[in-house]
Amino acid sequence: MDQNSSPKVKFFSGEQIPVELHKVRIVQKLHLKPIDERLKAIKQGGFNTFLLNTADIFLDMLTDSGTNAMSDNQQASMLQADDAYAGSQSFYRMEAAIKEVFGKELVLPVHQGRAAENVISKTFIKPGDAIPMNYHFTTTKAHMELNGGEIFEIFTEEALKIKSKHPFKGNIDIHKLRELIARFGKEHIPFIRMEASTNLIGGQPFSIANMREVRKVADEFGIMMVLDASLIGENAWFIKQREAEFATTSIKEILRTMCGICDIVYFSSRKVSSTRGGGICTNNKDLYMQMRELIPLYEGFLTYGGMSVREIEAMAVGLYETTDETVISQSPGFIEYAVNELDRLGIPVITPAGALGAHVDAMSFLPHIPQSEYPAGALAAALYIISGCRGMERGTISSVRLENGEDLLADMELLRLAFPRRVFTLSQTKFLIDRINWLYQNRELVGGLKFTEEPKVLRFFMGRLDAVSDWPEKLVAKFKQDFGDSL
Ligand SMILES: *Cc1c(COP(=O)(O)O)cnc(C)c1O
Repeated sequence: MDQNSSPKVKFFSGEQIPVELHKVRIVQKLHLKPIDERLKAIKQGGFNTFLLNTADIFLDMLTDSGTNAMSDNQQASMLQADDAYAGSQSFYRMEAAIKEVFGKELVLPVHQGRAAENVISKTFIKPGDAIPMNYHFTTTKAHMELNGGEIFEIFTEEALKIKSKHPFKGNIDIHKLRELIARFGKEHIPFIRMEASTNLIGGQPFSIANMREVRKVADEFGIMMVLDASLIGENAWFIKQREAEFATTSIKEILRTMCGICDIVYFSSRKVSSTRGGGICTNNKDLYMQMRELIPLYEGFLTYGGMSVREIEAMAVGLYETTDETVISQSPGFIEYAVNELDRLGIPVITPAGALGAHVDAMSFLPHIPQSEYPAGALAAALYIISGCRGMERGTISSVRLENGEDLLADMELLRLAFPRRVFTLSQTKFLIDRINWLYQNRELVGGLKFTEEPKVLRFFMGRLDAVSDWPEKLVAKFKQDFGDSL
């Protein structure tokens, strides 16, 4: 594999445009339907983008989970999959890949990232424990709380700022970490969790300098460090771009350095290796033996862990490809392009650009919609209506209702537009930016939403809503006035 080719391609014109260093060999037809049909579809889907059918969607930017493009070598590897309940050669190939890429010898396969969180939480967390972390991920928090733990997000004050130039908004605040240890005592802190490219705050990375500082405190108190490596490739890429010490270090070396600092590394390969499945790895035999017991119980035998052998083969190849800059830089390059363009147009978007997607700040985009009428959900619905592009609400709809009947208002109201790895082209990205810009110019036409059907648990998945007025019809009328019969 070519490890040295630089993804930095400069243009004579001086323009900053990401260039794909791969070619398209299999294509899938997309559906850009007329706006009236899109309005009908969002109404049928209860104004919830999770309830849309992809037959009605143009660019599906809901998530980067399990939607990334595989490489030719990944597809090819699936043909040599070794079907066996136990002792499959496919597993040993994956184990070798993890050893090579993450530098960890002992590997436990699991069916996806949250399964790793279940195993780790069940093994190490006791009721009353505190788990410090840079920020939570939905499934992480749920598993830790199920086991009686409480999570503490000890991010720095940069983390939640919409506009920032800070290169590492995913860093842990060391002072808060020490305070937490003093408050709970090291015996009630089973481990410190660091999440690469912190998902819910806009895909923001941490630095290796910060990891080393956390490690120093962890060593002082004898506490373990656990790395959520689901988005590790992009975090490594940002370290190379933004942390001077590593400017000339290979991605492979950066990945190994990151993993080397932590006792346990787990990941969702729906993200990191563009397949399905997941894994847990460590160099500590004792930790491995403690977790191992739960694998046959919850996942499957130790050489498949609930995955198909085809997925395991593709995962191994995908992990090796994570060390290739031309592969891992593609998604951050497109996100950076989109974020910088949106920012240039004055559209409120989280900066600096991070991993996994562009995050539009709905509270500044739609300041006239109160949080109780879900600005991020309204923005997601409006963008779908006018473009066929599907994003995900990450705001108060994704939060919960309190016992007193009020919504627990989210810290931020974000519309997340995920960029699945190597899936969309530059013209599609430009289409997205153009439509967001039009919506921004017409933002006063967008109104709020209200629940018509509200599930008690994880309401954002299946909940149904309706517009608080006839704003969707007015938005459609203005679109037709400006665009005629254009899709
Ligand atoms: C997606 C994700 C998970 C959960 O992984 P699944 O494979 O979806 O279960 C955990 N942590 C992070 C940071 C993720 O992005």
